[in-house]
Amino acid sequence: MYNRYMELQFIKGIGPKKQKLLEQMGISSAEDLLLHYPRRYEDRTSLLKLGELADGQTGTVIAWVVKVEEQRPRAGLYLLKAAVKDETAMAVATWFNQPYMKAKLVAGARLLLTGKVRRQFGRLEILVQDMELLAQEEPAEEQGKILAVYPAAQGLQQKLFRQAIAQLLDGGRQAEEYHSAAFLQKYRLMGFNQALEEIHRPKDWASLEEARKRLIFDEFFFLQLSLVLLRKKDLHNKGLVHLSKGNLTESWLAGLPFSLTGAQKRVIEEIKEDMARPYAMARLVQGDVGSGKTAVAAWALLLAAENGFQGAMMAPTEILAQQHYDNFNSWFQPLGLKVGFFKGSMGQKEKRQLQEELAAGQIRIAVGTHALIQEKTVFQRLGLIVIDEQHRFGVRQRALLQEKGDHPDMLVMSATPIPRTLALTLYGDLDISLLDEMPPGRKPVKTICILEKAREKLNQLLRQELEQGHQAFVVCPLIEESEAMDLQNAQEIYQQLKKKLNPFPVGLLHGRQSAAEKEEIMAAFAAGALKALVSTTVIEVGVNVPQATVMVIENSERFGLAQLHQLRGRVGRGKLQAYCILVTNTSEPLALQRLKLMTETNDGFCLAEEDMLLRGPGEFFGTRQHGLPEFRLAKLPEDRQLLEMARAAALDLAGQDPELGRSEHLELNCLIKKKMAEMVNG
Ligand code: ADP
Ligand code: MG
Repeated sequence: MYNRYMELQFIKGIGPKKQKLLEQMGISSAEDLLLHYPRRYEDRTSLLKLGELADGQTGTVIAWVVKVEEQRPRAGLYLLKAAVKDETAMAVATWFNQPYMKAKLVAGARLLLTGKVRRQFGRLEILVQDMELLAQEEPAEEQGKILAVYPAAQGLQQKLFRQAIAQLLDGGRQAEEYHSAAFLQKYRLMGFNQALEEIHRPKDWASLEEARKRLIFDEFFFLQLSLVLLRKKDLHNKGLVHLSKGNLTESWLAGLPFSLTGAQKRVIEEIKEDMARPYAMARLVQGDVGSGKTAVAAWALLLAAENGFQGAMMAPTEILAQQHYDNFNSWFQPLGLKVGFFKGSMGQKEKRQLQEELAAGQIRIAVGTHALIQEKTVFQRLGLIVIDEQHRFGVRQRALLQEKGDHPDMLVMSATPIPRTLALTLYGDLDISLLDEMPPGRKPVKTICILEKAREKLNQLLRQELEQGHQAFVVCPLIEESEAMDLQNAQEIYQQLKKKLNPFPVGLLHGRQSAAEKEEIMAAFAAGALKALVSTTVIEVGVNVPQATVMVIENSERFGLAQLHQLRGRVGRGKLQAYCILVTNTSEPLALQRLKLMTETNDGFCLAEEDMLLRGPGEFFGTRQHGLPEFRLAKLPEDRQLLEMARAAALDLAGQDPELGRSEHLELNCLIKKKMAEMVNG
């Protein structure tokens, strides 16, 4: 019987050299090999002979090259014509503008050709759409099959994968089925062994589909079950009780210059209920930029303070943390609560002092960056943690902050509206509150897309706005690989604007500046000393400057919709009419379609869904680390129905057997423990 940990060298056909190559691909055991799923399939089930091809049809044949000829009938058109034959006929196979194909087409080569057939005046021609170079002798077992094509590397042939995997599949192996029979039946899933067999050696397209369904379901299911169980574990852990005493929250509300929106009130109610219960809250507040998340966080932090607990708020960048700090300080100090600011760029002495005050409980609210999760940062009595712009932090960082208290409540804030499918894979362990209402009096931002060559018009608009005492952001994209070039681009635009907008003072903000420099520039802009601010995307999150009415985004096609929307949210926060100008040079239809959508809607959730459909979930968060799990087979959004099904199945199972203690869940229990450990530690 096959052993899942069997080493590769015991498989026939894999010697030390091949083993090394496989290991470089991350395949180091028999199990890895079995889980190395095909990239695509080749259809050998419906092969035709040349003599059988009919005019107008698209068909697949196997034929041998007789001779090859190049033709250049006119400028810009390059034809490669190969005379090919099989035992029934001769034909001409034609490739358009693919000169690189020539090297593969040596006389005698055996080809698998798919293409459109033309039969005219007794001449047979195939306009080739797809070609594969075949070995001279086809192993008999590959004939007439749907053949798996594997992700491979230099020196590793398809044959090796096919034969090694066949050995494992034929080896009388029985991989353990970790779902119960009842479960498989309920969700109409193929057995695991059969699914492995069918994914590698499909009998037909229908059973391949069934196999994919089972395996993709499992990928989602394990993730969802881990998330649900992580959550359940929190629920079982006794948490802190925060009762509404009203003294701090009420006096703060009374002093606010505005009244809360309906959505803010509703979300605060949801938080209040959660925090009153004796287990740890884990809640995500999703709200568009400017929807007033900070006030919701403030309320929750005050509730913790009312109950004698400390609170912590962590943000991904220093600039953003600084704004929260300034906000909280002005709100909380009058209430007699000391707020501390923990950032990376602190002197040793300053840091030690803050840490001492925090440990002694003098600091009641700690605001900061990653500095908050440092080992030496210790709280006296941590009751609530708030994490802003959650998708920048992983499950692990969340956990690190949580461990600083005895099961503190947790509130997570995200300004990136996230499509439901992604929210499920990222935040399946959180309850979700929506801040779906903007504070009153906001005029929607007018969004305009302009071409590079209309820059003069843009400069005019900027001038007009500045003359009215307003301010402008100009954002230049920063893509990590070409940081130097992008920086140069930002500097050029800065120099240009300085001239065009003279005498208005213009600032430049970029990632190479020290934190102190950045802060100084940002502060100057916020105070109105700088009228325009050219920056790389360091201002992406959270920053609040009410007088800013223009957001110019250079090379806007390089941003995702969600990012563009976030940037746009930096303006239009006051009562003034604001503009978002998307500058681009692109003629790429998909990119233009995305930009057009930006001009048509201000709805962040709608943009998020579209962005994911257009660019896929990997691109959704842009170039930064996004914390999305990687799947072997599953693809979002295509497989979202299976995701929903897996989510429901995970919730159902965890409801029935929360400890996974029943005998039929033994194997599942082992697998899921491994998975959860990876998630928290990984
Ligand atoms: P975000 O959700 O993007 O974090 P903020 O919390 O920064 O939004 O709020 C944006 C601005 O709106 C701030 O200036 C804040 O003071 C203001 N604001 C928040 N809630 C209200 C409200 N209910 N009415 C009026 N203004 C509000
Ligand atoms: Mg915010």
